[in-house]
Amino acid sequence: MNNMFAVAMLYINGKPTHSGLECICQAKGAKKRIIARVSDVVMVKVISHLNGAIHAIVSEPELGVLFTQCNKCAGKVVTIGGNVKCIDCGYIEERKLSTKFGNSDFIKLGSK
Ligand SMILES: [Zn+2]
Repeated sequence: MNNMFAVAMLYINGKPTHSGLECICQAKGAKKRIIARVSDVVMVKVISHLNGAIHAIVSEPELGVLFTQCNKCAGKVVTIGGNVKCIDCGYIEERKLSTKFGNSDFIKLGSK
């Protein structure tokens, strides 16, 4: 249960939504790992509706963090072996990165 987290759904199937829906994401087999932090953009796969909540997973390669910032100084980060490193202060932190990290259509959408 500790690995459950809520994700605000801003895009569904790549299309912006303003529904304000949140889904609950369960990170199986990823104990003690940092999956994502608040304000990260994360791609998840919705697997079920249960008890009025939307459940999703991040365990597939293309799923995970698409965009994030340094947790210390909000600087830009680059990926290093499954972690992210801040190019401003050098702070390294773990993430469940998507294979589409940094080059997804979402980034283009977000930077307009
Ligand atoms: Zn930093």
